[in-house]
Amino acid sequence: MYFQPAPGKMLIGIRISMAAAWPWWTKKQAGRMGLLCAECGWDLRRSDDESRLPYNILTRPRSWRLVCGECCNDGIDVMD
Ligand SMILES: [Zn+2]
Repeated sequence: MYFQPAPGKMLIGIRISMAAAWPWWTKKQAGRMGLLCAECGWDLRRSDDESRLPYNILTRPRSWRLVCGECCNDGIDVMD
Protein backbone atom coordinates (compact mmCIF):
# COMPACT_ATOMS: atom_id res chain seq x y z
CA MET A 1 0.00 0.00 0.00
CA TYR A 2 1.30 3.46 -0.82
CA PHE A 3 0.09 7.03 -0.88
CA GLN A 4 -0.40 8.85 -4.16
CA PRO A 5 -0.26 12.61 -3.57
CA ALA A 6 -1.86 14.83 -6.19
CA PRO A 7 -2.63 18.55 -6.21
CA GLY A 8 -5.17 19.12 -3.43
CA LYS A 9 -5.72 15.49 -2.52
CA MET A 10 -4.14 12.28 -1.32
CA LEU A 11 -5.05 9.01 -3.00
CA ILE A 12 -4.15 5.51 -1.87
CA GLY A 13 -2.67 3.00 -4.27
CA ILE A 14 -1.94 -0.67 -3.90
CA ARG A 15 0.90 -2.56 -5.49
CA ILE A 16 0.34 -6.28 -5.31
CA SER A 17 2.69 -7.86 -7.82
CA MET A 18 4.19 -10.84 -5.99
CA ALA A 19 3.44 -9.10 -2.69
CA ALA A 20 3.26 -12.36 -0.76
CA ALA A 21 6.95 -12.97 -1.46
CA TRP A 22 8.17 -9.49 -0.47
CA PRO A 23 9.14 -10.24 3.12
CA TRP A 24 11.63 -12.89 2.02
CA TRP A 25 13.35 -10.93 -0.70
CA THR A 26 16.82 -9.61 -0.11
CA LYS A 27 17.26 -5.86 -0.06
CA LYS A 28 18.85 -6.07 -3.51
CA GLN A 29 15.80 -7.84 -4.96
CA ALA A 30 13.47 -5.36 -3.26
CA GLY A 31 15.45 -2.51 -4.78
CA ARG A 32 15.03 -3.89 -8.26
CA MET A 33 11.27 -4.05 -7.69
CA GLY A 34 11.15 -0.45 -6.50
CA LEU A 35 10.43 -1.32 -2.87
CA LEU A 36 13.21 0.87 -1.51
CA CYS A 37 13.01 4.66 -1.18
CA ALA A 38 14.33 6.14 -4.42
CA GLU A 39 16.05 8.91 -2.45
CA CYS A 40 17.59 7.34 0.65
CA GLY A 41 17.25 3.59 0.09
CA TRP A 42 14.98 3.05 3.11
CA ASP A 43 13.35 -0.39 2.95
CA LEU A 44 9.69 0.48 2.35
CA ARG A 45 8.62 -3.06 3.31
CA ARG A 46 9.26 -2.07 6.93
CA SER A 47 6.23 -0.72 8.79
CA ASP A 48 7.85 0.15 12.11
CA ASP A 49 8.40 3.84 11.33
CA GLU A 50 5.27 5.81 10.50
CA SER A 51 7.26 8.82 9.32
CA ARG A 52 8.61 6.72 6.47
CA LEU A 53 5.44 5.46 4.81
CA PRO A 54 5.76 4.98 1.04
CA TYR A 55 4.67 7.72 -1.35
CA ASN A 56 4.52 7.46 -5.12
CA ILE A 57 6.30 10.61 -6.28
CA LEU A 58 7.02 11.86 -9.77
CA THR A 59 10.80 12.18 -9.53
CA ARG A 60 11.47 12.91 -13.18
CA PRO A 61 9.12 13.47 -16.11
CA ARG A 62 7.19 10.22 -16.67
CA SER A 63 9.11 8.43 -13.96
CA TRP A 64 7.19 7.40 -10.84
CA ARG A 65 9.17 6.03 -7.94
CA LEU A 66 8.26 5.13 -4.39
CA VAL A 67 9.82 7.52 -1.89
CA CYS A 68 9.59 7.46 1.90
CA GLY A 69 7.70 10.17 3.82
CA GLU A 70 10.94 11.63 5.18
CA CYS A 71 12.29 12.34 1.69
CA CYS A 72 9.10 13.83 0.20
CA ASN A 73 7.70 15.76 3.19
CA ASP A 74 4.85 13.22 3.41
CA GLY A 75 3.70 14.21 -0.08
CA ILE A 76 2.62 17.65 1.11
CA ASP A 77 4.79 19.44 -1.45
CA VAL A 78 2.95 17.65 -4.26
CA MET A 79 -0.48 18.36 -2.77
CA ASP A 80 0.34 22.07 -2.58
ZN1 LIG B 1 13.76 8.20 1.79
